[in-house]
Amino acid sequence: MSIAENDWRLRGQERYLRGRAWSRRRYTSPRPGWDHDHCAFCWGKLMEVQAADVLDEGYATDDLYYWVCPTCFDDFKAMFAWTLAEDGGRIDPGRMHVD
Ligand SMILES: [Zn+2]
Repeated sequence: MSIAENDWRLRGQERYLRGRAWSRRRYTSPRPGWDHDHCAFCWGKLMEVQAADVLDEGYATDDLYYWVCPTCFDDFKAMFAWTLAEDGGRIDPGRMHVD
């Protein structure tokens, strides 16, 4: 499945998220008083707690600055040439298709 260039979740993220490495992790609060982040694409909410409409895990950049929910990770990983840090950055060329 490919994502259209005009997908509603796209708003210029390629400027800062293209080619990034991500690792799947449980959400943890970065500091006291900051209890959530949002998926950089669908704006889904990530929190340490399990609650309705809240995700407790997703994919984060090494600095934990950007988070992406599992659905958006799957949808955009090819378009953004993402790698998974857990896999040692391995890229499967067969999945890097461009439609
Ligand atoms: Zn998302």
